[in-house]
Amino acid sequence: MLNKPRLLTPGPTPLPEQIRLVMAQDMIHHRKAAFKHVMAELQERLQMLFGTSQPVMSLACSGTGVMTAAVTNLFAPGEKVIVVDGGKFGERWAKIAKGHGLEIVTLSVAWGTAVTTAEVEAALDAHPDARGLFVQNSETSTGVLHPVRELAAITRTRDLLFVVDGISSVGISPCPMDAWGIDCLVTGSQKGLMLPPGLGLIALSERAWNKAETVPPACFYFNLLSERANVQKNQTLFTTPVSLIIGLNESLKMFMDAGLETVYRKQWALTMLARTAVKEMGLELLAPDHFTWGLTSVRLPEGVDGGKLLEIAADRFGVIMAGGQDHLKGRAVRIGHMGWVDWADLAAGLHALAESFRACGGYIGSRDYLEKGLQAYHEALLTYDGTV
Ligand SMILES: *Cc1c(COP(=O)(O)O)cnc(C)c1O
Repeated sequence: MLNKPRLLTPGPTPLPEQIRLVMAQDMIHHRKAAFKHVMAELQERLQMLFGTSQPVMSLACSGTGVMTAAVTNLFAPGEKVIVVDGGKFGERWAKIAKGHGLEIVTLSVAWGTAVTTAEVEAALDAHPDARGLFVQNSETSTGVLHPVRELAAITRTRDLLFVVDGISSVGISPCPMDAWGIDCLVTGSQKGLMLPPGLGLIALSERAWNKAETVPPACFYFNLLSERANVQKNQTLFTTPVSLIIGLNESLKMFMDAGLETVYRKQWALTMLARTAVKEMGLELLAPDHFTWGLTSVRLPEGVDGGKLLEIAADRFGVIMAGGQDHLKGRAVRIGHMGWVDWADLAAGLHALAESFRACGGYIGSRDYLEKGLQAYHEALLTYDGTV
């Protein structure tokens, strides 16, 4: 009662009321005209969101499901692929590819740093027989933004597919598929798109479709060629989560009404708010240079227990944040500011972070970290020019 719960995790995120309300409507049948109408509208909006002229397919699964669909539809067992592994989700690409019987070359990157084009070029030169390159746009476990645009450019002249996990970047920072030259882009409903979990989205470039046509079907459920044939009829291959599709259509309507540029401007400004305030508190950013726009990760000093800090933030302030993963468990805090989060939610989150940090024995000298953060936010709103 004292506090309004504020979900500041890197997915799931809070939901706008208008999306919750459209999802509360009674069921419509997924093979009838009313639903086909929604699918037609949605397809146009999805193509705008992904920046592609190719169909975007919605699958009933979490983000890992569409990652799996990408691997199994684009590569045949035995093919060699290069995986950029700079955190939990890079590691996941490798696990999925291994499960599908691919030969994996892992390009390991230290947690908190982005892969460089030179590193990727060297790997591509060393393995000219590699047929795929896998990367995260935003590595959510560390808060790093990998240079997808530059990586796409170096893959264009080579005979391999560039596959991007955009689960925590689509709808958060620009990642236009066709303009940059991405062969496969995937995302999920519960990160930037202001929806509950449960929908995966995936699109392929023309050359990826050409490749997919040569790969023997690996599984009955994730069959992108059949999904594409259904999308062309404003349908889905199997029974889809109808309410989530209706919610997604509403969410993208909100995006299109505001303009994607405004969505990215807001996300950039929130990122400036969080990073400025955290630095002002004297805390260490986990991704100092190449950082994602939807979350801010903070490395905790020795002696401050991250698990306890998160508990205090939730119990005393109503703010729910995420911790570190693997070797960063208890050693980091990840504040999500993606989806339906605004400056006031984030200011509450940063205040909860500072006070919980103090309650765990940490020292914060600054009294005006929020003022400085909000100033950076307003400046960023004015100066954002759309470049990544
Ligand atoms: C959240 C996330 C995933 C996993 O998505 P699930 O919906 O939990 O399967 C994969 N990659 C990235 C970058 C993510 O942020």
